[in-house]
Amino acid sequence: MVDVAGYVVGKLLGQGTYGQTFEATKDGQRYALKLIKAEALRLGFDLRRFQREVRALQKVTGPHVVQIREAGATNVGKDLRYYIVMEYLEGNSLAQAFRDAGLEFDEPRLKGILTQIVSGLEAMFDQNIIHRDLKPENVFVTDAGTVKLLDFGLVKMLDYTTLTSTPGRAIGTPLYIAPEILRGDEVDFRADFYSLGVLIYHLATKGNYPFTADTPLELYAHVVDTEPVRPVKYNPALSNSFENLVLTLLAKQPYERVYGHDELKVAIETTPLTVPRALKAESRQKREACPKRCFIRLLQNEIGVVRQFVQQGVKPDGIVYQANFLPKFKKSLAELRTLGVPYALDPVTYRLAYSSFAQTKGLSELPYVLDRLSTLTPAMLQSLDAQQNYARGVIDWQTNWDCDYLTAPFHYARDLGSPWMDIDIKLIQESIAYAQSLAKGKPIFAGLCFNIEAYANSDNRLALLNRYSRAKPDGYFFYVDGIDERTNNPLQIQALLGLLRLFQRMGKPVFACRVGTLGLGLLAAGVDGMSVGIASLTGFSESTLLVNRAVGYDMTTKYYIPGLLLTLPVPLAEDILRRNTTLRCQCPACSGSYKDLERVAKVHYLHVRSAEIAEMNGIADTVRRTEAFSRRVAEALARCEAIRKKQPEYLQPGHYAHLRTWQQVFKPQVV
Ligand SMILES: [Zn+2]
Repeated sequence: MVDVAGYVVGKLLGQGTYGQTFEATKDGQRYALKLIKAEALRLGFDLRRFQREVRALQKVTGPHVVQIREAGATNVGKDLRYYIVMEYLEGNSLAQAFRDAGLEFDEPRLKGILTQIVSGLEAMFDQNIIHRDLKPENVFVTDAGTVKLLDFGLVKMLDYTTLTSTPGRAIGTPLYIAPEILRGDEVDFRADFYSLGVLIYHLATKGNYPFTADTPLELYAHVVDTEPVRPVKYNPALSNSFENLVLTLLAKQPYERVYGHDELKVAIETTPLTVPRALKAESRQKREACPKRCFIRLLQNEIGVVRQFVQQGVKPDGIVYQANFLPKFKKSLAELRTLGVPYALDPVTYRLAYSSFAQTKGLSELPYVLDRLSTLTPAMLQSLDAQQNYARGVIDWQTNWDCDYLTAPFHYARDLGSPWMDIDIKLIQESIAYAQSLAKGKPIFAGLCFNIEAYANSDNRLALLNRYSRAKPDGYFFYVDGIDERTNNPLQIQALLGLLRLFQRMGKPVFACRVGTLGLGLLAAGVDGMSVGIASLTGFSESTLLVNRAVGYDMTTKYYIPGLLLTLPVPLAEDILRRNTTLRCQCPACSGSYKDLERVAKVHYLHVRSAEIAEMNGIADTVRRTEAFSRRVAEALARCEAIRKKQPEYLQPGHYAHLRTWQQVFKPQVV
């Protein structure tokens, strides 16, 4: 073939879904001539209708769409073939340019390409044309760097079924087709926004796609029903805001792709593509000296204890209430505000994944409970929309009560394989974004909740840090299943300490929550903060989530004997202090008494703990703090053994066996 309608046809430029494109010349000008496959046109597209459609496409003009010159029909052999003549472009398809660039564009180049594509889509929108087949093969990048859209609007004229080269394989690839097209719903320009979302995903993740499937049918089902795989899975450097831009374009419903063309261009231009790698950037920064802190977890009516304590001249570093205590404890919060004591709410979101939440007072009434008749599951929080609503609800509840520290929602993610983990990371990012939009300037903490056994090895600890380093909270609360102040396993305590110290590399305060007196050792060894209940043995464990009671609290009041580092049942403590005068406490609550300890136990606890923290803050460095703590442990152990010898009925070895473990773990050289 040498001549089509007066054009001299030259070399083959490309072979596409619709037919072949050749170089063609006429009157000394070069063009691209697309010869459409004979069988490709839809039934009913006679020449006149074909030319009418092409005339509509010709009205689409501008620097970012290919210009169509004319269309017609010609006989090729015995077949009548339709053709379209377009301007000739020097360059490559975007697909080729991406491969040439090693599957990665730098940020300015990527954004330049994307905004030009949106300009091309806008030119089409002005003429009421929907592309319907936007993909890298249909985007052309000229040698001068200008991006032009090709093949827009052609899909409409073509008969899909005749274009399947292999059975079951629809036109091109369904990877880029919007769910509403697959559903057979009405289609507008936002179908192209979906395709653009896939295209951005592809370019920003070294060539990956939102869905993977073995068969086209499976892929169709994913496009219609499944939430996309997070782009950060493939490109961990991607910023949360850029990821959100992509996920918004990939929303299942057109109305959820909230942008207009101009807005989308601005969003692409102004959203940072990546975040600086946290570890590299921040481990080099010197950690600012951060005072050791102890937050007190309060139960129901313990506000009176705090009042008494503050009146005796000391202030706790912070108070933590469970979120479900509100609005009932509204007055307590107001009083803390008056006393000048900072406070936070534990959002207790982790409990919502267990059916016992339904029986716990206040919990099922929390405004952020998604479904009062069902436990919370990862599946309920798959979409960006659901995550944002939930994160906002949790943050709103805390800002409504004017908390000084905010905590992002978090859940029990037993180990690295838990489906909660990625959701929690996303929830941290969304909570931060939302809290920033409220412009209250309050620090926002991430909660992590897991079983210590999962991080007994250092590879897993590092993997956990790497996963969480994507989010940038102002601090971390760790709730750890399998560890409390009586834990006897040195490897578990070492694992916890290792993990907390690792997270400190992010340059933010790290708190070990509900660890009781074990927290003193952790703080001495470098950890920034701890939280404890008052005069009760506390520990976090998944099993307590399963039952209907105040989580993790042994409700009997206990008395802390600082000289033994033990928190014991009140009658036992009274017996021991009666016989061992040197162990009696001189704090403002006890003033040397060994009787009626039940009454003073809580205020005493606050005094002693806060004195211990103050003492620790008075020691200059971690080595000396660890020395001081290990000395305390050695002394406590010697005293316990002496009591055991003299009054064997008082102390069983099980009461203090963990002190030996602490002695092993908190040796000065551990640091
Ligand atoms: Zn005391």
